[in-house]
Amino acid sequence: MIEQRALGNILVRHGVVTAEGLEPLFLQQREKGTPLPELLVQSRLATESDVARALAAECGLSFVERIDVALVSPQLATRLPIGYCKSHKILVVAERDDGVDVLSADPLDTAALDDVRATFGKPVSTVVGAPEMVVDAINRVFEKQDTQSELETDDKFDANDEIDILESDEDAPIIRWVNGLFFSAVKERASDIHIEPEEKEVLVRYRIDGELYVARRASRQFMSSVVARVKIMAGLNIAEKRLPQDGRISLRIAGRSIDIRVSTIPTSRDAERIVMRLLHKTNVLLDLTDLGFSSRDYHLMSALIERPDGIILVTGPTGSGKTTTLYACLNKINRPNVNILTAEDPVEYEIQGIHQVPVQAKIGLTFASALRAFLRQDPDVIMVGEIRDKETAEIAIHASLTGHLVLSTIHTNDAPGAVTRLVEMEMEPFLVRSTVIGILAQRLVRVLCKACKEPYEASEWDLRQLAIDPERTRRRDARRLSPRYTVPGVPYDPVGWRGPGMPILHRARGCEKCDGKGFSGRLGIYELLVMDDAVGSLVLSSSDAQSIKRAAQGQGMDTLRDDGARKVLEGKTTVEEVVAATQEDFLIDE
Ligand SMILES: [Zn+2]
Repeated sequence: MIEQRALGNILVRHGVVTAEGLEPLFLQQREKGTPLPELLVQSRLATESDVARALAAECGLSFVERIDVALVSPQLATRLPIGYCKSHKILVVAERDDGVDVLSADPLDTAALDDVRATFGKPVSTVVGAPEMVVDAINRVFEKQDTQSELETDDKFDANDEIDILESDEDAPIIRWVNGLFFSAVKERASDIHIEPEEKEVLVRYRIDGELYVARRASRQFMSSVVARVKIMAGLNIAEKRLPQDGRISLRIAGRSIDIRVSTIPTSRDAERIVMRLLHKTNVLLDLTDLGFSSRDYHLMSALIERPDGIILVTGPTGSGKTTTLYACLNKINRPNVNILTAEDPVEYEIQGIHQVPVQAKIGLTFASALRAFLRQDPDVIMVGEIRDKETAEIAIHASLTGHLVLSTIHTNDAPGAVTRLVEMEMEPFLVRSTVIGILAQRLVRVLCKACKEPYEASEWDLRQLAIDPERTRRRDARRLSPRYTVPGVPYDPVGWRGPGMPILHRARGCEKCDGKGFSGRLGIYELLVMDDAVGSLVLSSSDAQSIKRAAQGQGMDTLRDDGARKVLEGKTTVEEVVAATQEDFLIDE
């Protein structure tokens, strides 16, 4: 943490501590990163109350020792989620026609005050209290609030009797309910929120680890109010109910920035359906070792991203974890002496030391134009979100030929398909051959819950689904162990079944730990095609994807199905998960 010099100056100015007294604290702050107020309290130089009082004086605000919690309306205060209130030490205490009053422990936290202003659409007046007192008040006010949601499905309401948020003065429950949706979606790691009009109720579903689950229901009479609330937040036209609309919401929830893409469509149920995709900006950045590569794929991939030039492509459908993989690659080569530039739509993770540009097609900043500008910015490594047109493909090839490493994604089912896709974009086969160094296809499969997964003996059918049998395994083993195809330094990484008898696989059950889902988290399965002479000569002769695939398998490439089979045999996922994720992976006999 950097030293909180500005805060220190304020405290000195208000006589809380002397300038000399602060220096040793700054030293500690540099070493341990502890916030300054905490250090002051620890070293008994000041109390939390002294700091808050000085901040109040500095900002010209009044300081209060305590507030009467009985006078604070829980309906009002809980319009902000409790986690948010606690992390920002802020409580909404009163609402007037011309503004809202908040109690805050940190009047310098202008972002939080801005959030309150935006939530209520009114100016904010602040009084300051000591952090301990504010947190205590938050706890007591939220406890008062009845945990029963006022919007739960209740048969006594007539579904046709809809309430419009604009005409209703009972808007607080709606706002709280919608805020609660965002809040619990983040808590449950949902990637999407669906709000759907059913005949008698509003159904909210979350997509978690790729699957949809019913998260909440509300009485149908609230549908239009909920839709209106979301539309207001997303800056959409509330009056337009007959046409699809797209918008965005930017939120901070419990200290995390979240971008939400909102899409509405009209439905035959006389109400709109909303789907929101949550983009967590501060998601955990994975290391390359965390992606679940087989040891062969890991070593090949690590070597590819250390090359000074060339194009590495990641392919797979939307939501297959391509971006996570690219970030993990960038993270591995992110060093102070490497200049890395990215063009993304949108920027999903912010990485220290990497220069990231969000693409904005509306103002003409496309992948192609960003890429062209990057070449004048002296980069070593360029990541471009997607190659989807001839222009971007051309510049990517040009960048590679002029000594840059280019990482990107391309929309094809498997790795060999990416070669044919580039040729379809009118790229010369010899340019593809000389620039593309590796293509990684990937899918995500759900990981079995460790607590409740159930072992069973595989059937013939299971093995056929996974394309493994002892005969094919023997052929693969023989080839993999031949010195010609062994990757130096990589231990033999078997996949397959050698018999006798049948392997033990696992199926999903469901328990308390996994909320009855039987799965927890997701894992990638991969197919890494390396451009070697065998594959390269087929690219030059414009061969079809199947021939390229067969050649790559001949060099030891595991297909998506093979890598999936490996993870089923390791007990990480199920046959069904792998089959569903690799339906397009046609089997070629080697
Ligand atoms: Zn479980």
